[in-house]
Amino acid sequence: MIRVAINGYGTIGKRIADAVDAQDDMEVAGVTKTGPSFGCELAAKKGYPLYCITDDLERIASFSSGGYECHGGLSDLLASADVVVDCAPSKMGAANLAKYEAAGIKHMFQGGEKHELTGLSYSSSANHAANMNADGTRVVSCNTTGLSRTLVPLYKLGSSLKVECTMIRRAADPGDSKKGPINAIKPVLKVPSHHGPDVMTVMPEIEINSLAVAVPTTLMHVHAIIADLPSGHGQTTESILDIWRQTPRVIVMHGEGDRLTTTAEVMEMARDLGRKWGDLHEIFIWEDGVKLVGDRLYYFQAIHQESDVIPENIDCIRALMGTESDWRASVAKTDSAISDYYGL
Ligand code: NAD
Repeated sequence: MIRVAINGYGTIGKRIADAVDAQDDMEVAGVTKTGPSFGCELAAKKGYPLYCITDDLERIASFSSGGYECHGGLSDLLASADVVVDCAPSKMGAANLAKYEAAGIKHMFQGGEKHELTGLSYSSSANHAANMNADGTRVVSCNTTGLSRTLVPLYKLGSSLKVECTMIRRAADPGDSKKGPINAIKPVLKVPSHHGPDVMTVMPEIEINSLAVAVPTTLMHVHAIIADLPSGHGQTTESILDIWRQTPRVIVMHGEGDRLTTTAEVMEMARDLGRKWGDLHEIFIWEDGVKLVGDRLYYFQAIHQESDVIPENIDCIRALMGTESDWRASVAKTDSAISDYYGL
């Protein structure tokens, strides 16, 4: 049984904890919080041992003021686990990495950290094998995960793929009251944006660039993608759709026919699926928004930013621990356990 520590029990951390809990080959060693808050209640209800993000004794003691049992500081948690999944807010990676290295524990960061922090990144379909038995890695961001899911099978049609894409990004997560814009469209003025090139940290063979804008919505990101397939690919629009239909964690549906023409309906469908928080782990492709013109493929996809990376973290744990070398086998095991967990 792999014992998994989760450092940071927020948007991503609470979801990863449940995904770990769903598996039969791993368990939650504990989760950390900064202090007593409503998030502690969720951990307590689930029976996840609660730890403090630091070893500061006063801070550890403060949990009891909220009525929560705190089992100790971060060092205590790290000592009782095989691997730590860092889910702290972005840019805390360097400070946390030093703690993980001092504790001699395997570690995984999220996409808010840069590839350079670990020199290794992870996306199941792109480079599971390269992460086998590594000491530390970074699960790429929600956007990079989405791009990798649909582009890697296209790359595998030949030996080249050139991509230009525009990321239409949600301004904030639904539970976030600090970010914006609330009445503006905000272009990312660093061109190209980091999103496209980040795919090359897991699949350097894909030549990709991106532009990005943030828009006032909280539900999902949308990607508008143009991909130049290698000449002689022999594909049609329909055969590309079939490739994606057979790709794990990708959903292809008809916008007009299924009445799913916006991210609002897509998220309503996700809520109907019945996963906690209304999550959609799959990348959503609008069938009627896909068209191959010569060698050039046009498509849109939608990304549920809070959840597409969750099952990836589970597969990444197996890669780091060296327990499953076949990415497809890990993905199937992860997804079936999560479905059973929610009775789907
Ligand atoms: P969040 O703010 O929702 O949660 C972070 C949690 O960490 C909070 O509970 C916070 O109290 C806790 N924390 C604060 N300081 C800490 C510290 N020093 N050590 C440990 N924990 C600490 O953030 P999030 O959205 O869950 O993001 C976590 C990571 O996941 C970031 O790298 C982010 O970029 C990445 N990510 C986020 C999303 C998303 O849509 N939210 C998607 C993919 C990846």
